[in-house]
Amino acid sequence: MNLKNRNETETLAVCGSAPVFDQMVPVGQLYYPSWESYEESFRAIFERQYYTNQGPLTEMLERQLEERLGVGNAICVTNATIGLSMLAEALEIKGRVIMPSFTFIATAQSLYWSNLTPIFCDVDPETHHLDFDQLEILLQKGADAILAVNLWGGCCDIRRLEAIAGSYGVPLYSDSAHGFGCVVDHRHLGCFGSAEVFSFHATKIMSSGEGGCITTNDDELAERLRNIRSSYGIRRQVKVDRTANGRMSEAQAAIGLLSLQDLDNRILRNKHLHEAYREVLDGVSGLKILIPAGVDKSNYQYFVCEVDEDGFGLSRDELNKALQMENIFSRKYFYPGMHRSPPFCDNYPSYLESQPQTDKICSRVIQLPLGARVDEDAVALIGRQILLMQKHSRQVRLALGVR
Ligand SMILES: *Cc1c(COP(=O)(O)O)cnc(C)c1O
Repeated sequence: MNLKNRNETETLAVCGSAPVFDQMVPVGQLYYPSWESYEESFRAIFERQYYTNQGPLTEMLERQLEERLGVGNAICVTNATIGLSMLAEALEIKGRVIMPSFTFIATAQSLYWSNLTPIFCDVDPETHHLDFDQLEILLQKGADAILAVNLWGGCCDIRRLEAIAGSYGVPLYSDSAHGFGCVVDHRHLGCFGSAEVFSFHATKIMSSGEGGCITTNDDELAERLRNIRSSYGIRRQVKVDRTANGRMSEAQAAIGLLSLQDLDNRILRNKHLHEAYREVLDGVSGLKILIPAGVDKSNYQYFVCEVDEDGFGLSRDELNKALQMENIFSRKYFYPGMHRSPPFCDNYPSYLESQPQTDKICSRVIQLPLGARVDEDAVALIGRQILLMQKHSRQVRLALGVR
């Protein structure tokens, strides 16, 4: 018995064994098309010698995105961050924008670039999305727009949010960087509020390497966005104040088209990986698995847990370190909250003590690898190591302390 325990302990890298994975296993999706299909698309670009400026592949991708999402306008951009900034400009927002304090830095930075003032709103501890009670309080104090964030392949209660934004007469737009392929109320994410922004970064489920897209049913807004994106550029000229270069190149669009073709298979694959994690980790004390909330259909872009130190036996940071030593590159994402991130913590120190739920989630949340670089065996192995770490938490903690 004793011997068996020792053997199990010895399979943990933190206790001196070889890591269970030879190579780093990342969290992000990294689904890429086959070399053959990639080569074929790129050869065609070189034959056409049409490399950017709203070429045929970018046009085709925009039409396919509109069709897939059932939205009037898809405007492809070079990444989601610049998409969010251009959207704030196109919506002609001035002043203060309510956004959740629990999100990726790009959400807040998009406001900073646009000279807008973020108003940080705490989040719901169950869904990690905007807390509606806090939101109402902030709206009553006055705001000029709401920037919602849809996380983890789930969605904030977007219908309720649309109603609230409508009743206060402020525009609502969403950072849906995590949400491509999600379905809410029989409609695809991408059709809600004034507009939404998706990221097609390589770590997301729909990828063009770098890239993104803004979706809206408002044709006038779309026209302004096209003018801002390409320093006037294509289609009808409308008056805009600032312009930029946020164009998607043909190389990006080629990868995007291939990614879109295979998207349903990848979502299904991720769903199975989710289930494989849950088979091992459901019911583990101190580990709360986040189920994508508020959607009829998720894209399963992330597998997210919260670690309660007392229940689990290790803190999130300890678990994260022990996993990294196994070459399992789990992430504490997002950390810290926006209200504790520079420059916002320096510019708006009044928020430091007003976001208790975000603070708590930031200290507990962890993402485990999903996507192209793991299969069901790898997931079972990751799950097994987590169980071992819990079982031998005292030794793990000691070993980490020595290091
Ligand atoms: C990835 C991400 C972004 C930024 O997307 P880019 O395409 O890399 O600019 C913005 N917000 C959230 C929530 C993200 O996860």
